[in-house]
Amino acid sequence: MKLQKGDQVQILAGKDKGKKGKIIQIFPDSDRIVVEGVNKMVKHLRAKRENEGGQRVEFDGPFRADNAALICSKCNKPTRIGYKFLENKKKTRTCKKCKQTI
Ligand SMILES: [Zn+2]
Repeated sequence: MKLQKGDQVQILAGKDKGKKGKIIQIFPDSDRIVVEGVNKMVKHLRAKRENEGGQRVEFDGPFRADNAALICSKCNKPTRIGYKFLENKKKTRTCKKCKQTI
């Protein structure tokens, strides 16, 4: 997966299309990410005792990484990610728009 935890992304599809946010969790196995404030879901928890009401818990749901584009920290535009190998063979990510290392 090209995206990393902490990346700023823009949502490209779905009900939150156009929204921006920070990746707070990634699931490389299923190619899914969780972005702060995006794809809000509500979980209903049943009451543990009879005299308590059930609880509504809001959380940010995971969605396909394909539906998000990285926002380049250098040119501030949603971009595709390229890779570049440094002299010490370390792999770095580059912005396809401004060619800078991200
Ligand atoms: Zn850029």
